[in-house]
Amino acid sequence: MRESETLDFSHAPAIALGRVLAQNIVGDRNYPPFDRSIRDGFAVRAQDAAQPGARLRIIGESRAGVAFDGSLGAGECIRIFTGAPIPRGANAVVMQEFAHIEEGFAVLDQPVLPSQNYVMAGAESRVGERVIARGTRLGFAELAMAAQVGHTSVEVTCRPRVAILTTGDEIVPADQKPGPFQIRNSNAFSLSALVNMAGGEAVILDNAPDDIAQLRAHILRGLEADILVLSGGVSVGQYDFVEEVLREQGAEFFFDSVALRPGKPAVFAWCKGKPVFGLPGNPISTMITFELFVRPAIEFLSGRPPRPVIYLKAKLAHPVRERSPLTHFLPARITQTNGDPVVETLLWEGSGDIGAVVKGNCFLVVHASKLELEAGEWVDVLHRRGAL
Ligand code: AMP
Ligand code: MG
Repeated sequence: MRESETLDFSHAPAIALGRVLAQNIVGDRNYPPFDRSIRDGFAVRAQDAAQPGARLRIIGESRAGVAFDGSLGAGECIRIFTGAPIPRGANAVVMQEFAHIEEGFAVLDQPVLPSQNYVMAGAESRVGERVIARGTRLGFAELAMAAQVGHTSVEVTCRPRVAILTTGDEIVPADQKPGPFQIRNSNAFSLSALVNMAGGEAVILDNAPDDIAQLRAHILRGLEADILVLSGGVSVGQYDFVEEVLREQGAEFFFDSVALRPGKPAVFAWCKGKPVFGLPGNPISTMITFELFVRPAIEFLSGRPPRPVIYLKAKLAHPVRERSPLTHFLPARITQTNGDPVVETLLWEGSGDIGAVVKGNCFLVVHASKLELEAGEWVDVLHRRGAL
């Protein structure tokens, strides 16, 4: 895997979204570069403006981009606007709401303190200071910062290539008309999107039928990528061959089932030097296990520091009872109109029901350690905004 590449996003910032910095970004100048007013008003010497009713002669103007060429003396002020440089001699800005103009003088309605209403040069960051750390994922704020310090061409990590290999005799490409017992390949689409959102580059392979020889050939092709993600064929059915083929190829398994619903049959192995995830084929199982297991691997290989899965907290709208001692993820909707966020689960027909996820915006997490939840309880929610 190539480690990094140069990305120039000067003319299309959005191409950098989600990329991970392979370098630190440092400031090329102090920020702000000059003492900068953050209000419209009057730049004054605070010692002249300590009393309400002070009258200061207006001797000029400073506006954004055009500085006042001179310095303030005793009893003087200048008209100043947001973003404008503070003139020499001034050390405070009086907001225009707290002053009025009388015959060339600013009359202050309120006193002002030194350093009020401006930001000193270099107060936000100094030349040479690191403003974005290596390993940071570029979002809108990071792009703004990169632009501010003039770094619009930077080293970013190469995105890990993630092979997506769906399996199953019943699966047909989504743009083909399925026979009566065939199923369109929706997992290739959700996985491709999830890989992309996690910072990887999806490589979609042809679906593999439930046949050992053909599955082997597809898996070997998939192992050319940096990560292989399979869907389907990991349960205990008679036609679930994924584990068998991986074992035959010398895979070392780290887990071959997880205490989750949906998602229980998920496997993780290391095969021919590559991480391999075998996700269950049911569409919601695929999504949940991707989010919990594959996303962190993609992030790690993208050069990002590891981070935990983050749950939101919401108040449960109704009681929930689960029986199996597993951690459950239930399609749900979180809303917040007035007051606390509230989560309600959606009716669903189990882990094949994509519609329930489409209607919702999150998953309620019912932990194995507490399977009975009461209405009004604060509960964990896995939000799918920007991720799942
Ligand atoms: P499996 O994990 O192979 O036993 O598949 C479980 C269920 O998920 C079956 O009903 C499959 O038809 C369905 N399924 C498997 N792969 C896909 C896929 N790529 N797209 C949509 N549904 C799938
Ligand atoms: Mg199958």
